Amino acid sequence: MQTIENTTPKSIQEVWGKRPLIISGPCSAETEAQVVETATRLAKTGKVDLLRAGIWKPRTRPGSFEGIGTKGLPWLQQAKKITGIPTAVEVATAKQVEDALHFDVDVLWIGARTTVNPFSVQEVADALRGVKVPVLIKNPINPDLELWTGAVERVAKAGIEQIGLIHRGFSSYGNTEYRNAPMWHLAIEMKRRNPELLIINDPSHICGRRDILLEVAQRAIDLDYDGLMIETHIDPDNAWSDAKQQITPEQLVEMLEAIVWRK
Ligand code: PEP
Ligand code: MN
Repeated sequence: MQTIENTTPKSIQEVWGKRPLIISGPCSAETEAQVVETATRLAKTGKVDLLRAGIWKPRTRPGSFEGIGTKGLPWLQQAKKITGIPTAVEVATAKQVEDALHFDVDVLWIGARTTVNPFSVQEVADALRGVKVPVLIKNPINPDLELWTGAVERVAKAGIEQIGLIHRGFSSYGNTEYRNAPMWHLAIEMKRRNPELLIINDPSHICGRRDILLEVAQRAIDLDYDGLMIETHIDPDNAWSDAKQQITPEQLVEMLEAIVWRK
């Protein structure tokens, strides 16, 4: 595995606000080698601003991989040291916020299953009081803009100034084309109400499968989104979570090159 030596990590302030903001990395951190190799291959593309990896995974049903936990955080630190790319992790509890910050995670995000629960969002927000860290807030799994807005308000009231929205689609019953229907009008309305917030599209969780990622990403760019969050894995078919929707870092480059960007 080739490494990129002596890279000075970029500060998050150099990256935040860059347009388009490209966030990528595995659904879940699985092993140190997987995190470091993913990060290294992403860094070689020169197109990724922020490395994502799930450390604690809120799975809908028990029995599947629920995240490697705190022991994965030094792997992200190592990936950042090698590649210079700042990191982002999902948090759902005060302890997770504390641990992520202790290991220098640069951006925290609140997941769709957490945004639905005001007690959990408040717990995260309280743990963020007095901390300067950008926070991304995914839409709730159900199409409720008030819950999404409530989460933004709780985080803002805790003093967080850099807040972004992530549109990851909305769940519904039965088999549908998308894993989570985009319902674009809802995200657009949320952006209309909060023009000062970044809005990032997450084609991976909208699509649930790789073959339609490009068309969803293109739609988001056509709608003037500020960036994309796309899951990448060194061996997507054997990923421990969300295997069907992940792509390799090299496929990410192909996809980003296929997108027609706004001037
Ligand atoms: C994820 O980003 O891997 C994740 C669990 O996403 P969501 O909260 O959108 O389901
Ligand atoms: Mn995922």
